[in-house]
Amino acid sequence: MTVLERYEEIRSRMAKAAREAGRSDEATLVAVTKTFAAPDIEPVLAAGHRVFGENRVQEAQGKWPALRAKHDGVELHLIGPLQSNKAADAVALFDVIETVDREKIARALKAEMDRQGRRPRLYVQVNTGLEPQKAGIAPDDTAKFVSLCRDGLGLPIEGLMCIPPADENPGPHFALLRKLARESGVTRLSMGMSGDFETAIGFGATGVRVGSAIFGSR
Ligand SMILES: *Cc1c(COP(=O)(O)O)cnc(C)c1O
Repeated sequence: MTVLERYEEIRSRMAKAAREAGRSDEATLVAVTKTFAAPDIEPVLAAGHRVFGENRVQEAQGKWPALRAKHDGVELHLIGPLQSNKAADAVALFDVIETVDREKIARALKAEMDRQGRRPRLYVQVNTGLEPQKAGIAPDDTAKFVSLCRDGLGLPIEGLMCIPPADENPGPHFALLRKLARESGVTRLSMGMSGDFETAIGFGATGVRVGSAIFGSR
């Protein structure tokens, strides 16, 4: 199958999952293009898709300015860890930053947004499995952290994002993220990847991040 055929298949599986969950709204597909270059991405852009995710600021800087020059209306999401010294570049390049996970980075983003006059929408990443090697706010600290970002710093926090532990049933993690969003007063839920996006849609994902199922293995 070509990239475009796999893209179309993911779209129809998403629609089916939404129907089966009794949802009238559709989740946004964030097509994750990390490690892939323009020749793989172009067919999806040509088909009209506009929402993409990258996990590294520098890698995204290397390919997206040229792709954006050719295609209007691209919405680029940062879905990987962000260091404070990259906050300026991230604010300049991304439309959505899904990985706000500590006060230091929240403050760095605030300073850069004020300086650049650009306001990417933000998500707080939650470490639902409390995995030591994984980024994210602990579930118990999420509502307080969202409040600090939104009410304390005035940041445009839209939702929560999680990456469940690879070896666990993701359902309980998606349910937890949904509950934390409700408690935190945000409405967007970025959850679900190639292996579990249909499950995530069943649990109310508003955005799924799918890479390898469209572009191939990395
Ligand atoms: C790579 C990545 C994805 C996409 O993963 P696939 O399994 O290739 O769909 C989703 N979310 C994050 C945070 C990623 O880094």
